[in-house]
Amino acid sequence: MRHAAKKAPPFKRTSHDHGHCVEDALDRAETLCDAQGARLTDLRRAVLELVWRGHEPIGAYALLDALRKTHPGAAPPTIYRALEFLEAHGLIHRIESLNAYIGCDHPERPHVSQFLICAKCSTAAEIDDPSVSRALSKSADGAGFAVTRQTVELSGLCPTCQREARA
Ligand SMILES: [Zn+2]
Ligand SMILES: [Zn+2]
Ligand SMILES: [Zn+2]
Repeated sequence: MRHAAKKAPPFKRTSHDHGHCVEDALDRAETLCDAQGARLTDLRRAVLELVWRGHEPIGAYALLDALRKTHPGAAPPTIYRALEFLEAHGLIHRIESLNAYIGCDHPERPHVSQFLICAKCSTAAEIDDPSVSRALSKSADGAGFAVTRQTVELSGLCPTCQREARA
């Protein structure tokens, strides 16, 4: 049974209150970590906040540069360990084609995502359409293939960039 709750559109409006996204993400992370007995340390929280600085995926080295402003001693392993933790708890997703990370806005619900990546402004959005992941699993099964990870990343233009292109 699925709730008929209307899902928020995957791409946020340019004018949305992003502070609200960040606040929500940090609240959800705390609740989820508490529930799982995991520790959202200051450092992990700082990295999560940096990943959520916007809706464009960010790479590990850009994160490290940003993190050093508040944690001057941070080194690559610091960031990789934090990212590993956040990814393991579903708080962020890795975008393979960009080798970068974005925040997940519904980490409490297990899901297999497909990502929409804007080639112009680099914004990425997540959709998780179970019919897509099921169809892929079924085809892979048919080929006698045991799937360990599904990576579906679509490249194109986000609604904002399409509007700008038309204007
Ligand atoms: Zn936002
Ligand atoms: Zn997600
Ligand atoms: Zn765009």
